[in-house]
Amino acid sequence: MLPIPKSSVLELLRYLIRIPSVNPSLSPEEGHNEVRIAEFIVEWLRRHNVEARMEFVRPGRPNVYAEVGDDDGPTLCLCAHIDTVGTAGMEIDPFEPKVEGSNVYGRGSCDMKAGVAALMVTAASLAASGSIKGKLILALVCDEEYASIGADDFVSRHKADACILTEPSDLKMVIAHRGFLWGKVTTYGRSAHGSRWDLGESAIKKMANVVVGLDDLDKNVLRNRQEHLIGPASMHVSLINGGVGVSTYAPECTIDIERRTLPSENVDRIRLEIEEVVQRAVKDSKVDWYFERSPFSCNPNELIIQHVTASYESLLGKKPESVGWPFWTDATIFQAAGIPTVNIGASGVGLHESVEWVDFDSVLVNTEILIQTATTFLQNKERIGNINK
Ligand SMILES: [Zn+2]
Repeated sequence: MLPIPKSSVLELLRYLIRIPSVNPSLSPEEGHNEVRIAEFIVEWLRRHNVEARMEFVRPGRPNVYAEVGDDDGPTLCLCAHIDTVGTAGMEIDPFEPKVEGSNVYGRGSCDMKAGVAALMVTAASLAASGSIKGKLILALVCDEEYASIGADDFVSRHKADACILTEPSDLKMVIAHRGFLWGKVTTYGRSAHGSRWDLGESAIKKMANVVVGLDDLDKNVLRNRQEHLIGPASMHVSLINGGVGVSTYAPECTIDIERRTLPSENVDRIRLEIEEVVQRAVKDSKVDWYFERSPFSCNPNELIIQHVTASYESLLGKKPESVGWPFWTDATIFQAAGIPTVNIGASGVGLHESVEWVDFDSVLVNTEILIQTATTFLQNKERIGNINK
């Protein structure tokens, strides 16, 4: 049973969509950040007897932390991000949510203000029931769409025995996804006047050999490295830069590469494998690695998976489908902090696209799954593991 009428949940979701919270690092020209939506969330939660506050990660970049219950039992964390991608090219009004049947339109409707609303209603529900043995905490984090400074900051301040994310997943249970690694490759040429074929050597031509070598690695090696639920490893060349003028042999060329990684892979070996391909293609070259996010995988025997499965089954009469995702989410950050994590969220389409909507009926089902899971998980009087405290 939801503690507030369905019409009020819909109003809450529409209100959240009406507050622009476009990630300022991603789309600075839109001039938004997460402060206004965080203020609204805090105020709404307090009105529903949930303790809530903002925690600033950087000036203008807040998370919302909220809690229900006390330390007399396990702690369950629910996480959703409060930022969205930009609105360029959108074919609908991004911030005036239209409702058609069960579809609610708007930027962030699906990714993921629906997930934010589900968390808020779950916390309000548990506060109204007043009978939980442990503690429910909410991580409503900023910046997921850019560098995840919100989730990084959250796990540095708070501990939990398990975490559920609500990224839209069509009510499927996401238990694994890939990570990624970014690097820059540089080749060097010999600068010379464009007429001096006898002196000049183009760094761009050398880079062509690197690009061919990496493409071969991707298609013939990585594609065969398959993993259950999430498919193969992969990589691509995403940026290229080189040369100083049309009449000069290019002295330098760089490419940026992205390697998508599998939970079973070793990142040092991944780096070495690429460095060897680059070296084989061009001796006089270098590879600099500058950013990495780990893959995510949750053991199917984890208690949180059992609780989500049982709640889903009792509400929908069947087991949830376990799936893996090719892309990255904040789940990794919680899992890496020692918190067993799983994702289950609403249905919808158009994430990061010109027409985005969420299926409101699935938001209600998602919320009921969360309420039931939180209730059963927090019935366990004994602590689960010793991660917390
Ligand atoms: Zn998202």
